[in-house]
Amino acid sequence: MSDRISCSMAEEMIPAYVGVGCTDKEKKLLEKHCSECPDCAGKLIRAKKLYANTDQGREEEPEADEEALSRKTEE
Ligand SMILES: [Zn+2]
Repeated sequence: MSDRISCSMAEEMIPAYVGVGCTDKEKKLLEKHCSECPDCAGKLIRAKKLYANTDQGREEEPEADEEALSRKTEE
């Protein structure tokens, strides 16, 4: 098997890469593809940012609820 993958294969691997469900071999294939394909490299960067944001967003979610609650108690 060649160590080159197509753009559609790279796209399919990105979610696993930014998550945790990707093998070392897949990681290397995707990284190699991204080093030769700026298009997929951009998609990978965006996916990484998106993943980081959703991860943090989940932890800080209750903020809005607390605000609404304290406002209710004041009234
Ligand atoms: Zn590509």
